[in-house]
Amino acid sequence: MGLAKPVENYTQSEAASLAQQLRDQLADYSQAYYTQDAPLVEDHVYDELYRDLEQLEAAFPVIVTNDSPTQKVGGQVLPGFTKVTHEIPMLSMGDVFSEAELAAFDQRLRKNTATEIEYNVELKIDGLAIDLIYEEGRFVRGATRGNGTIGEDITQNLKTIKAIPQKLTRPVSIEVRGECYMPKAAFADLNQKREAEGQEPFANPRNAAAGSLRQLDAKVAAARQLSAFIYTIVTFDDVQATTQSEALHVLAELGFNVNPTSVVCQNMAEVQAFIEQYQGTRNDLAYGIDGVVLKVNDLALQRQLGNTVKVPRWEIAYKFPPEEAETVVREIEWTVGRTGVVTPTAVMDPVQLAGTTVSRASLHNADMLRDKDVRLLDTVLLHKAGDIIPEISQVVLDKRPSDSQVYAVPTTCPSCGHDLVHLDEEVALRCINPMCPAQMKEQLTHFASRNAMNIDGLGPRIITQLLAKELIHDVADLYRLTADDLAQLDKFKEKSINNLLNAIDASRQNSLERLLFGLGIRHVGAKAARLLAEHFQTLAALMASDQETIITVDTIGTIIADSLVTYFADSQVQTLMAELEAVGVNLTYTGVTKAQAATSDSYFNGKTVVLTGKLEQYTRGELKQLLEDNGAKVTGSVSKKTDALIAGQDAGSKLEKAQSLAIPVINEAGLDNYLAQ
Ligand code: NAD
Repeated sequence: MGLAKPVENYTQSEAASLAQQLRDQLADYSQAYYTQDAPLVEDHVYDELYRDLEQLEAAFPVIVTNDSPTQKVGGQVLPGFTKVTHEIPMLSMGDVFSEAELAAFDQRLRKNTATEIEYNVELKIDGLAIDLIYEEGRFVRGATRGNGTIGEDITQNLKTIKAIPQKLTRPVSIEVRGECYMPKAAFADLNQKREAEGQEPFANPRNAAAGSLRQLDAKVAAARQLSAFIYTIVTFDDVQATTQSEALHVLAELGFNVNPTSVVCQNMAEVQAFIEQYQGTRNDLAYGIDGVVLKVNDLALQRQLGNTVKVPRWEIAYKFPPEEAETVVREIEWTVGRTGVVTPTAVMDPVQLAGTTVSRASLHNADMLRDKDVRLLDTVLLHKAGDIIPEISQVVLDKRPSDSQVYAVPTTCPSCGHDLVHLDEEVALRCINPMCPAQMKEQLTHFASRNAMNIDGLGPRIITQLLAKELIHDVADLYRLTADDLAQLDKFKEKSINNLLNAIDASRQNSLERLLFGLGIRHVGAKAARLLAEHFQTLAALMASDQETIITVDTIGTIIADSLVTYFADSQVQTLMAELEAVGVNLTYTGVTKAQAATSDSYFNGKTVVLTGKLEQYTRGELKQLLEDNGAKVTGSVSKKTDALIAGQDAGSKLEKAQSLAIPVINEAGLDNYLAQ
């Protein structure tokens, strides 16, 4: 990358043709990045091509086209979302990549301005721009940037984010902007889960946040642990500030989450010190940053400087160089997950990268390994996706050994030797042998986990030993373990033996949903397991049901139904279920059923209830469950059909709506009385 010769040596027609090639390439990259939230290349690759295009267009202004990425804000509106128009466009931001370019920006500004300039310098959060509108202190609409003028209405998704206040500390009407982001820990967690399920991991927290917010189902966004920093006041009708730093104080006072790191700098030396501080410590932050932003602090001066078609003239981003390290691949390890997904990991010579020693990097799936053409003994460049997950950027081909061979992706399971397959359209390779020992270990760990059969003390270390000593082969064997068997385990004395046997025994009485979840049937999560158990009451009834019957259960769709039918059609699975019965595991639902609740006298029985505000005694999930156990249907929004609203602290628009519709409102203090009825 970089132009092949100095820009002044291009003829106009050469420049026009190269510029068009670059535009086409950048358009492809942007489509993948903004629309699918799945970039084809890393940001610095995109940025370098963009720079080449900028240079050509600056030298030959006649070749600029209206659809050039240099002339418009990237991003598109996805179908399915309501479109919103930004009265004041949401622009992009100019960026520089070196100290010299940053100094040039500063000098240009100072030359064109009569007054002294000070900057408010902020971290550039690696997320997705959001626009929030509050009316009289209540959050009423939230949107993405989209193409800058038209964005997507994502109000429902944003309402699931705790860091975004539903109600401000004062009843002001205001439009604000900021960055929605996924904390590093949540990003690492999400990618691990996606990989285990055979889905493509997100490339970075920005794409993960964008992919989560642009979900039509607010429940998906709610589960993604997103957060947000707000940094711009767009409308000043009800608030006052003369500088950006004052604006940040006002935002914080109103109850917004404001990033605490920003500083006012009088000169470039101070700016440089800020850059160095965060370049050094960025890895310690809980969120990803990709640079710092300099904003002219004086808001009147900002207005005076104005914008180009694409970016404000009063701000600039300094982007951090990508942190990279070089090392050598010694081995490619294949691990088998609980659902049989087989994942390659490159094992490399340990190297320091962005604050930690790295010796392993997931290659995610066989396709990615092939695309990157990683081979044994290759020298590779590593970076950290989202500042956290080590990833191989590319192979250093100049250093490839001359006798190197294309890496042969295994065709059989590294654990059991069964043939590996691609299911449906999945990128992942899977071992579909239900008796595969590696899967078995993961499955047993899941089976014993807290939300499944909750067998205290049965962790991966014990399971590995039980499998290795052939004391167990499947989950039913757990219930046949004796004290003598357990005495064979490492450092396992009488007390541990008794505790584990008791925990296993107690799990026999679990209600059916725990077993259903614990079996690890594809797509059957804890919630689906509960709905199924509650509906079918017995394992036998569920096993005897076809797809059409299963999808009559509320919120259970064809994917889950198909997965269940396929699972229970397997003769080995049928044998296992019979064994579980034989060893005394309860196969019926013992929770409170809707039908039982219907005959109960509960006030909530058969009522449609909405929850809002902050609760002290219960988490939302706990209260929802409790109400459902009392026969209520808990829904997300207030309408004429709502029978009662349970309002905690700081309840907002839902409370108002309920009051306007004369729907009974129950506060937390009064809740127990109703539950006792
Ligand atoms: P940008 O992301 O570089 O900068 C503008 C954005 O920064 C704002 O919209 C805002 O969301 C964000 N921001 C974070 N912290 C901020 C703060 N404190 N103050 C103000 N804004 C803050 O610009 P862009 O136009 O959104 O995207 C262009 C960039 O996207 C490119 O530079 C490239 O790195 C990346 N991109 C990558 C690909 C790819 O294929 N990898 C494709 C297209 C774009």
